[in-house]
Amino acid sequence: MTSLSKGHPEIPLLQESSVSGRVAVVLPRLDVEETPVPSDLLRGDLPLPEMDELSVVRHFTLLSQRNFSIDGQFYPLGSCTMKYNPKMNEAAANLPGFRRSHPLAPEADSQGSIALLFQLQSCLSALTGFKAVSLQPAAGAHGELAGVLMIRAYHASRGDAKRVRVLIPDSAHGTNPASCAMAGLTAETIPSDASGGVDLAALEAACSGEAAATVAGLMITNPSTLGLFERNIERIVKVVHDAGGLVYGDGANMNALVGVLKPAELGFDVMHFNLHKTFATPHGGGGPGAGAVGVGAALEDFLVGPVAVRTTEGYSFSVPKHSIGRLKAFHGNFGVLVRAYAYIRTLGADGLRRVAENAVLNANYLRVLVESAYPVAYGEGRRSMHEFVSSGELAPGVHTLDVAKRLIDYGYHPPTIYFPLIVKEALMVEPTETETKKTLDAFAEVLLKIAEEAKSDPDLLKNAPHDTPVGRLDETAAARKPVLRYRC
Ligand SMILES: *Cc1c(COP(=O)(O)O)cnc(C)c1O
Repeated sequence: MTSLSKGHPEIPLLQESSVSGRVAVVLPRLDVEETPVPSDLLRGDLPLPEMDELSVVRHFTLLSQRNFSIDGQFYPLGSCTMKYNPKMNEAAANLPGFRRSHPLAPEADSQGSIALLFQLQSCLSALTGFKAVSLQPAAGAHGELAGVLMIRAYHASRGDAKRVRVLIPDSAHGTNPASCAMAGLTAETIPSDASGGVDLAALEAACSGEAAATVAGLMITNPSTLGLFERNIERIVKVVHDAGGLVYGDGANMNALVGVLKPAELGFDVMHFNLHKTFATPHGGGGPGAGAVGVGAALEDFLVGPVAVRTTEGYSFSVPKHSIGRLKAFHGNFGVLVRAYAYIRTLGADGLRRVAENAVLNANYLRVLVESAYPVAYGEGRRSMHEFVSSGELAPGVHTLDVAKRLIDYGYHPPTIYFPLIVKEALMVEPTETETKKTLDAFAEVLLKIAEEAKSDPDLLKNAPHDTPVGRLDETAAARKPVLRYRC
């Protein structure tokens, strides 16, 4: 590891810094009787590094600084809404009354926490137009599973066991078909048309004649992962409803719509909201998220539960009549829910609308700045929503992966690449509303510079990154054979 450092302070391995007998902590004097640990539980040889506190602090601080973070750098990762989340939301989640609350505490002692859950459900209902909301799912994909299970339960309750096909546009996130498979339904791909929207003829064919009776529903992302608003959405919803299916909205791209449009009004029957994308909570790196789901009249009784309710005696929990039951222990990722509530209440309706407007403005501003070198794959001349997807080799043999790696040399986290799958050499950029014009201008300048380099010195891109502690990784080996030990 040390030999790979280039222009970065060297971080010695913990084991190398170990000095026998050195300690970082002094334990307090025992105030209970000493009880020996059974010897068969103890290892004689345990080569842990022995270090002083300052060395430990430096070691981990330096390591943490080698990571990209929104607090440090611009992070335009498409479809992820990696926005800056105000620290106030962290402070709210850290209030002792929330932080120390225990899910098994009696309801009478947890009124504030349950009130927060109830209020957040109400805020999300008001923002999205759905009749009821459950906060239980732990992520977007988990919300999808909840939604598809509810759709299945709805058809089953009507004795409609033949409805097993879930139609999914080919631009969808991979979690959509995966959620269908987990729910025991069959995912069926609907192609996109030349403008990037759902191919209406293909959808109609999949929903007509005898095929209509087997349609469980449609899962659709709007705006789509191409960053385009689906202009035929009302027609699409009608085709599916006329066939007897229900419509699932993937709400991961809600940042473009929040405060502007209520998705339930498009006719969606169920939708998840990635609270960790649209409504604060830092994400990436696999931290906790929340995938709240909203439902309309058809699915209200099937809602995943319990959900928070308000009665004359105070706040409590209730299980909807035909609920598909629980999908998560207790009441979801509570800390994430506190952050979302604090975020929504701080911004208010007007502030949330400005979030969407500025997210769309920033994406279009950036898109226009770089369009000459990075043309969009679909929707030329149309307005993008909160993100845009460009496509193409910058020069013969220079790929999107090379652009992404070169961006790291310039101090930027790469955009999403090779997604959506229908775009060859996709580069998917989502700046979010929290970035300044200055940041976008600087990023655009670098993107254009890289486009020049691709022509004048393609190896510069192909061998990038050059200035990082570790050069270009074998990503397959890194995923399949990770080295997780601190000792080599
Ligand atoms: C992020 C995302 C998901 C999945 O959400 P997770 O919270 O990561 O499980 C689903 N669909 C789209 C379009 C997304 O961008």
